[in-house]
Amino acid sequence: MRGGVYYFSSHKGRGERVRIEAPALASVGAVLADLREVITSGHFTRTGDEDDCRYCDFVAACGGRANAQADTKLADAKGDAFKRLANHA
Ligand code: SF4
Repeated sequence: MRGGVYYFSSHKGRGERVRIEAPALASVGAVLADLREVITSGHFTRTGDEDDCRYCDFVAACGGRANAQADTKLADAKGDAFKRLANHA
C-alpha cells in the first residue's frame, strides 16, 4: 500500500481530496505494539481535556470527574504506552 485519499464528499467539503502517504512499516509496528500493550494491560485512560468530551455520547457514563482522574492515571508509569500512542499521530 502506498497511501490513501480522504475524500470530503459533503457540500461543505467541496469534494476536496487529501492524499495521505502510507507510513513506514516500522512506525506501523510501533503503533501496533503500543496498542497491544494498552489492550493487554487494560490501562485505558479518558481524556484529560474537558473540551474533548463536548460531543461525546458517553459523558453521563464517564461522570463529572473523568478529566481530573485522567491526569492522575496518566502520571502512573503503566500509562506510558497510552501516552506514546498520542505521539504517533
Ligand atoms: S466523555 Fe469520557 S469517553 Fe467521552 S470523550 Fe470524554 S473521557 Fe472520553
